[in-house]
Amino acid sequence: MDMNRAKEVQRAVCETSRKMYDSGLVAGTWGNIAARIDKDYMVVTPSGMKYEILNPDDMVIMNMHTYERDPDSRKPSIEFYMHAQLLLEHPDMNAVVHTHSTYALIMATARKPIPPVCDDQVQILGGAIPVAEYAMPGTPEMGAAVAAAMKEGNGVLVPNHGAVTIGRNLDEALLAAVLLEKTAQVYIGTMAVGGPVELDPADIAAMRDYFLNKYGQR
Ligand code: 13P
Ligand code: ZN
Repeated sequence: MDMNRAKEVQRAVCETSRKMYDSGLVAGTWGNIAARIDKDYMVVTPSGMKYEILNPDDMVIMNMHTYERDPDSRKPSIEFYMHAQLLLEHPDMNAVVHTHSTYALIMATARKPIPPVCDDQVQILGGAIPVAEYAMPGTPEMGAAVAAAMKEGNGVLVPNHGAVTIGRNLDEALLAAVLLEKTAQVYIGTMAVGGPVELDPADIAAMRDYFLNKYGQR
């Protein structure tokens, strides 16, 4: 493993975890983040530590296949199974963000998927946001359930628990988490005014392609 790269990823995960906390998507020590170092290793946030006091060195470097890590490192997030499985199954994606954000949790607790209703939603999340099968937090089963639901798009609702998003980099995975939360709020709000009009599948595919391949500066 390239230790310079590992340290850079530790810094980036730490910085993103602070941004996630400041954005209000998580409270207390809940939620967690991971990012890929290389094909075998990831960096994952430590378990149960206050976001305000996190330092890059607290971020845990872990083998995604064997879960081995330095015995002197912090205890990794209990969701390390999920982070490793998602990164291994999505080689184009390099970051995973897990939140307990409120409107996402309303949908996740009702166990209802969020249909494709907003342009920015489908651009960054790829379409509808499905609900995974229920499994206990911190288990390999929860990792497998979230991974099984993360097939078409970049976001999944975790029943009675929260949401998970993936992205090509940490900024994109965090933005997907922010957009997922906003979309859940918009969807629930539209229910008060007769329900949403869903987007057309051809328009969704075109917007997703535009976002992935053409949007923004060169
Ligand atoms: P950790 O503090 O171990 O990351 O757990 C928080 C959480 O959200 C579990 O799902
Ligand atoms: Zn959680």
